[in-house]
Amino acid sequence: MTEQPSPSTPETKVVLAGKVLDADEVALQRAVRRARTRGAKVLLTFLIVGLVVVFATSFWVSRNASGDTGLAFFLLLAALLFIMVYFGNNYWQWRVPQAFAMRCPHCDEPLVDAIHWTKRPGYACPHCGKDALCTARQLGEG
Ligand SMILES: [Zn+2]
Repeated sequence: MTEQPSPSTPETKVVLAGKVLDADEVALQRAVRRARTRGAKVLLTFLIVGLVVVFATSFWVSRNASGDTGLAFFLLLAALLFIMVYFGNNYWQWRVPQAFAMRCPHCDEPLVDAIHWTKRPGYACPHCGKDALCTARQLGEG
């Protein structure tokens, strides 16, 4: 029986664009990643439940008014729901690193200056262009 060599570092090393992150930085990256994923899951659940409710209501409308009214009702509300979830998710993806006051591990500039509703934040720092947000795989979670 050969003993497994005891690992001196319990955490896997997280490297971002050539820089090894320290324990605090890794903990922050994990917290941000978890909060972002949680928000996305909540919104997805909201979308699915919303679609079921909208579908049921439209079905009821089409039985009591007309099929066309029911379809129009469904399309309108479904589109509204998708728009809400899309922008809600964009907002949340920016809001989390902003709330954690995340800074770039390379140039120490804040990663989020303002919330952009139309897109999600990228992994690269807007100031120096180096990778500033860990992916799930880099954190050993993917
Ligand atoms: Zn930077």
